[in-house]
Amino acid sequence: MNERDTEHMLAELKEKENYDATDDFKSADLILINTCSVREKPVAKLFSELGIFNKKKKDGAKIGVCGCTASHLGKEIIKRAPYVSFVLGARNISKITEVLHKPKAVEIDINYDESEFAFKDFRSSKYKAYINISIGCDKSCTFCIVPKTRGDEISIPMNLIIDEANRAVSLGAKEIFLLGQNVNNYGRRFSGNHEKVNFTRLLQELSKIDGLKRIRFTSPHPFHMDDEFIEEFASNPKICKSMHMPLQSGSTKVLKDMKRGYTKEWFLNRVQKLREMVPDVSISTDIIVAFPGESDADFEDTIDVMNQANFEQVFSFKYSPRPQTEAEFFSDVIDSDTASVRLTSIQELHIKQLDKNNASKIDNTYTVYFEELYNDGFISGRSDNNTVIKVKGSEELLGEFKDVKIISIGRTVLTGEIIN
Ligand code: SF4
Repeated sequence: MNERDTEHMLAELKEKENYDATDDFKSADLILINTCSVREKPVAKLFSELGIFNKKKKDGAKIGVCGCTASHLGKEIIKRAPYVSFVLGARNISKITEVLHKPKAVEIDINYDESEFAFKDFRSSKYKAYINISIGCDKSCTFCIVPKTRGDEISIPMNLIIDEANRAVSLGAKEIFLLGQNVNNYGRRFSGNHEKVNFTRLLQELSKIDGLKRIRFTSPHPFHMDDEFIEEFASNPKICKSMHMPLQSGSTKVLKDMKRGYTKEWFLNRVQKLREMVPDVSISTDIIVAFPGESDADFEDTIDVMNQANFEQVFSFKYSPRPQTEAEFFSDVIDSDTASVRLTSIQELHIKQLDKNNASKIDNTYTVYFEELYNDGFISGRSDNNTVIKVKGSEELLGEFKDVKIISIGRTVLTGEIIN
């Protein structure tokens, strides 16, 4: 989502202020840092990075801090780093060209409604288009700061999403990637008067676009994975068969403390239904270990879910308390040694499962959409179920679909040869 927000800001700056992006910050007239605040580490890093940028930037260059940390720290950023020119919250990015001309502006209104703002087109990739389908989040997971930095959930009207997808396809994208905090809660609330539609309907309408070959999305919420949604996922040939299902914990008790809205049994039931209906589906997840009160038995439940679900990809983290969240005040904090041991167990199990899953892919054939050129004579892309695959080849393969047979495996990238 931050990547897409950055594209939106670049589009506005290009169109209205004639800016162009550069990779060399020392020659830049404007340095934008688009921040995340989901975990503690990136927040701490912000101030050290700001110091470096300030020391090395061109004379007169402006520095803007944007995104979720901007929303939650606001004026504090300018207090701690007075050379920062403006602070722009995650919910206010449409105002980028306004704050540019307002010294020390702090725009962080989380009630600001950008759901119908017509951003200009700019994408960092020609082949894949990120498209926001909603802003904010209505959930109240007790560990999460996002509702405080991105505000209430509002869906972007379906006609705007379809127009954006049509434009992206006409500019060459064959794949779209729909973004939202809870994509499968789409349509719950619009800010204007719009036809009531849900995520399944949105997927069906987008699938009608000629020239669009693949649709991906993230993140769906396990709570909203009803049968209708899973059946559409299974039967719609344009929907890529990879699903991100953020588990967070395998313990029903911890899930309740986290206010996730589902149980261990519900989660496993949804995984089972998915695997039954889409045998080659790839399922990824997020796991937080050592949430306050997580007992050994609770942690074993998470291991049990991992064993039963056999996730293709696991993003795991130690719990870190975030400001303005309920869990910040929870007692029964888990000590850091226990947290480290649990994280290591999760990561070791994941590696074991990953190696086994990858080994089973040797000699399989996948249709790969090529998107990235390496400088060692290889080019890579993704299969429908999100496996990263590289082959020997050059730029004429970019934006092409080819059938590829896997000849060797690595942890994150498999190597193949084109057979068709
Ligand atoms: S669903 Fe929960 S974890 Fe995800 S953004 Fe919303 S509050 Fe945060």
